[in-house]
Amino acid sequence: MRSILLSISMLGIIALTGYAAQDNTAQQPTRRGMGMRRGAAPARQGTQYVENEDGRWLVHDTERPAPPIITPGTASTQEKAGTAPSDAIVLFDGNDLSNWVSTNGSPTDWVVKDGYFTPGNRGGDIKTKQSFGSCQLHLEFASPVPAVGTSQGRGNSGVFIMSTYEVQILDSYENKTYPDGQVGALYGRNVPLVNASRKPGEWQTFDIIFHRPTFEGNEVTKKATFTVLHNGVLIQDHVVLSGGTGWIDEHTITNYEPHADKLPLQIQYHNNPVKFRNIWIRELKD
Ligand code: MG
Repeated sequence: MRSILLSISMLGIIALTGYAAQDNTAQQPTRRGMGMRRGAAPARQGTQYVENEDGRWLVHDTERPAPPIITPGTASTQEKAGTAPSDAIVLFDGNDLSNWVSTNGSPTDWVVKDGYFTPGNRGGDIKTKQSFGSCQLHLEFASPVPAVGTSQGRGNSGVFIMSTYEVQILDSYENKTYPDGQVGALYGRNVPLVNASRKPGEWQTFDIIFHRPTFEGNEVTKKATFTVLHNGVLIQDHVVLSGGTGWIDEHTITNYEPHADKLPLQIQYHNNPVKFRNIWIRELKD
């Protein structure tokens, strides 16, 4: 009996010692903030590195460069336009169209009124003076009241990224049309995931994240991608654009054609007095 008890005690001591040894190992301090990078000593067991385009970094490395500090903008309400983040290029803040011209480069006759702008008597698209490639774009629009016309004839406009790739603007509130031409469609290519339209006259938002295509000679080597939120709702989820979006005829659209790395942003005039406000853009890496 005595030897049995002794054995049990010994086992307990061994078990406790083993536990303590394990526990000591677990309690060894991790080396935070060591700034270990490519070419540094091999990782100790239990440490991890992540590697991407900004280098190879110890997980939770305090010496890893922090992102720039910016001031976010404010959200819009129906009554009042919001403001842009501090690192955005403001293309329209409600005051003037000094950043815009007609597509032929002449002054535009689009009209600014009560913090928004809308097409003038002459019509015609407008474009930014500055050119952009990959970008995050915020834009707000309101469809005409009363709603006039049907299908593509009601509240039609559009935003052409790089003067080329159209995200459709249309009054799609209780207005049937071909789905790849309703509001938020990548025109002729991609139908939006949902129809998140507000009523005519109500302000609506587009938030677009676009990465430009690249070309070699006449060939597209990387296709454009679009992520689009309409009124805060995801409607294009990192879509790879299969080709161009230019209307040719009823069932034909353009394909990719080589173009510059940066081109103006363009807003379409399609015979309807669509209103616009609060437009800003942030340039992105390709
Ligand atoms: Mg259009």
